Amino acid sequence: MPHSHHRRASLLSRRRFLRMGLAAATGSLLSSSLSLSAHSDGADDQYSGGAGYIIRSVRTNARRICLTIDDLWSEYYTLQICREFHRRNIRLTLFPVGHAVNNNLERPTAAHENLYPRLRDMGHEFGCHLYTHRVINGFSVDQLIDEEMEPSLRVMRRALGANFKPVGIRPPYGHVTDELKELSQRYNTPLILWGLDSQDAICTHQKDVNNCKYPQPSEYAMYSHLRGQAPQSPFSDKDHCARECVKEILHSYESYLRPGSIILHHALKATLLALPAIVELLDNWNMKSIPLSELLTYSSGSTGA
Ligand SMILES: [Zn+2]
Repeated sequence: MPHSHHRRASLLSRRRFLRMGLAAATGSLLSSSLSLSAHSDGADDQYSGGAGYIIRSVRTNARRICLTIDDLWSEYYTLQICREFHRRNIRLTLFPVGHAVNNNLERPTAAHENLYPRLRDMGHEFGCHLYTHRVINGFSVDQLIDEEMEPSLRVMRRALGANFKPVGIRPPYGHVTDELKELSQRYNTPLILWGLDSQDAICTHQKDVNNCKYPQPSEYAMYSHLRGQAPQSPFSDKDHCARECVKEILHSYESYLRPGSIILHHALKATLLALPAIVELLDNWNMKSIPLSELLTYSSGSTGA
């Protein structure tokens, strides 16, 4: 595999870039206990019970993991992804942005009315990803409650009923502050990050999946030397960029999947395309994906701290 070395190198530099970017964005608030790398192995990653704790994975020997899908801006990809996992008997944990839930309640696109109850009826469960998807650094506890948590809970209750309670709180970009920990304690709801970033959002951006450019017919002449090999040519494959992204998603799984993993995904085209291969990989590794509330019951982590 001539490209594998290159890919590993580019993956590493991307992680380094991400860490640098996040460090710059969070400044001194980035505490030493908060490592935002794509994976980490520190003891503080493990679920130790109770609210106010940051959970990135669950310490267990059971071959159980949790697939989480964030944001849900696209009703189309949300429904497709949730449906396809449901068809394969996999229950997800969804962290919708409150604003996206509101969009669906106020102006559902065709075929997406009543989306959230339908997702719940498939067996998927819900956490809270706050309301506006802003960077929350510098927010007071009151601001977090008034501008983010309560508006998000209001729309989730409108969508899913007055008894709705999120299984966890996931801050946008994984940024955790002391004020957010306080919020978590007040709502008695744990902070849920992730131990495995599927890289779907990063590769969607890097490979420009949504705007993947193909030559216009008028430009074909300059590619005429490729005509004879059309089936292999990227220009004949309209999902070329997304397929490249799928390879990176699978590489993330192969590198970092382990018992107790909490896996970060987004409702994106590349995720939908990767879905059959992800399910096959989980089957091959004998890993069963379960909702977060169930994964937390597998925790054998130590208590305290
Ligand atoms: Zn998000």
